[in-house]
Amino acid sequence: MEIIRTVAWMKQVASEARRAERLLGLVPTMGALHEGHLSLVREAQRECSPVVVSIFVNPKQFGPSEDFQKYPRTFDADRAVLENLRVDYLFAPPPEEIYPAGFRTSVNVEGLSDRLEGRSRPGHFRGVTTVVLKLLEIVQPRFAFFGRKDAQQARIIRQMARDLDLGAEIAVCPIVREADGLAMSSRNAYLSADERRAATVLSKSLQRARKKIEAGETDVVSLIAAVRGVIEKEPGVVLDYAELVDADSLEPAMTLRKPAYILLAAKVGATRLIDNALIEPLGDSLRVTI
Ligand code: AMP
Repeated sequence: MEIIRTVAWMKQVASEARRAERLLGLVPTMGALHEGHLSLVREAQRECSPVVVSIFVNPKQFGPSEDFQKYPRTFDADRAVLENLRVDYLFAPPPEEIYPAGFRTSVNVEGLSDRLEGRSRPGHFRGVTTVVLKLLEIVQPRFAFFGRKDAQQARIIRQMARDLDLGAEIAVCPIVREADGLAMSSRNAYLSADERRAATVLSKSLQRARKKIEAGETDVVSLIAAVRGVIEKEPGVVLDYAELVDADSLEPAMTLRKPAYILLAAKVGATRLIDNALIEPLGDSLRVTI
């Protein structure tokens, strides 16, 4: 695996791969890699060669009171894991390569970026889309791989790729969970033992919704009430939002006749976690994917 630290060298390597008509795949990450990230890498390797994994803790997507400074950085372990998987290139630029002095430009996907996570974390998605646009321009992959764990993010990035004719296809991969259902996240490392136990209510609340849907419930208000009910019973968890939204517009859904997400965010102690379930009409029934 070659470790690439500069934008110029990454562009050079990527353009050579494209000239050789190879199918470039990109997996953007902020490091502290876990099985969720690795599932994206494996999917990329099934579809593409060569595969570029990027590790960049993007300062622009953290708010002033958020965890940029203490975000876990485990570069040596990440590198070893990616070597083991036989990843071709690890793009790990220092901040000044991505944001040189005098950097002034940002990109924003209007509307989709203002709701849900965007409302709780002003500027977050502007930071995400700006760095992802840069990565997609530098590498110009045929496919870029994202996790459904961050469903709103994936929806926004797909919109940006379409609106700006970026040429990369945005692949969205399933959520990888711990054995007890907790969605894997680099931020899970912040949780104390008690918080770690409490955090399972997020996926439990989604399972409750799935059970209700499987039993025939289609009323959006009672489904969300059920989700809230499960989370509110756990005193260590403070719900930020639980919404059932149209999977395309991310606006509140009134029915389950089109694909929808239950999106949730909650604070477990000082740690903010998100999770979601996808609900899709399938003939006469509904498929719920957690
Ligand atoms: P991050 O390093 O948190 O920015 O995540 C990098 C990519 O990995 C994003 O596309 C995430 O959606 C994805 N990802 C993070 N956690 C998971 C998970 N548990 N399952 C699937 N994908 C994930």
